[in-house]
Amino acid sequence: MSNPDRYAVIGHPVGHSRSPFIHQRFAAQTGQSLEYTTIDAAPEEFAATVRAFFSNGGKGLNITVPHKEAALKLVDELTPRAQRAGAINTLALRKGGTATQLGLLGDNTDGAGLARDLLNNHRIMIAGRRVLLLGAGGAARGALAPLLGLKPSELTIVNRNVLRAQELVERFRDLGQLRAIGYDALGNDAYDLVINATAASLAGELPALSPGIVNTRSICYDMAYGRDDTPFVRWAHQRGCARATMGLGMLVEQAAESFHLWRGVRPDTASVLSALAAELQA
Ligand code: NDP
Repeated sequence: MSNPDRYAVIGHPVGHSRSPFIHQRFAAQTGQSLEYTTIDAAPEEFAATVRAFFSNGGKGLNITVPHKEAALKLVDELTPRAQRAGAINTLALRKGGTATQLGLLGDNTDGAGLARDLLNNHRIMIAGRRVLLLGAGGAARGALAPLLGLKPSELTIVNRNVLRAQELVERFRDLGQLRAIGYDALGNDAYDLVINATAASLAGELPALSPGIVNTRSICYDMAYGRDDTPFVRWAHQRGCARATMGLGMLVEQAAESFHLWRGVRPDTASVLSALAAELQA
């Protein structure tokens, strides 16, 4: 019997990652023979570790914090959505790529995962709504084109470093009504949907939000997730928002997009999302 194809998520740290849980279930569900592990690589080891992984027969990698920008430098080709985002979270061997002649394809599945989670799992409508996006890092880059494709009436990016938010406005302004501001310019106008794409939750922090940006009709979404509510979700509930949710579904949906790129089959996400939610609570 041949060895299973090898995949992994590479990050630093990466021990907490739920990606092995998700991909192993996708594989079992679709009858694919593969193994999926974690690889911890510090930034200075990243490029050599990726090359060694593929040279030794590895088939695909997910890229997580802090390597998303460094990974861009290793690819020979980008999918159109990764090109648009200027950030990648998935690496695959290009068709015809071999261990000696690598040829790596970079993709970004974060934004598609977010859009699927918002629309399919949470039934959140974006068309005609005012959307506020907190953060201008890798996750925000991936999210912008899919979000603008859902035709919000306007989308505001707020970031501590306003220059980074302005760069994103320049990059995506052809896709819709976009503006960039700093937290001091937030004001107290309520938004229909507030998406937290900052890394603040990972540090147990809350961005410097004005209380009035959320009212009883607002929906709040934190891309971060955990066993307990994140500081942003707790804050949103305290503000009396209509609904607040975390990014567990985005995690499963972006994984399904990567799995589809690698294996050519689309797994069922609902059952894996329920299993993951139960595992988190266990
Ligand atoms: P990056 O490091 O690329 O970007 C971090 C962003 O967070 C920057 O805009 C930074 O602002 C901002 N930030 C960090 N700390 C604070 C703070 N205390 N207050 C306000 N802003 C802050 O990270 P990513 O974009 O890759 O990830 C962002 C989040 O999205 C993480 O929580 C990550 O876990 C989550 N994520 C979830 C996914 C999912 O599938 N559910 C997928 C991908 C990401 P500045 O530029 O001013 O420094």
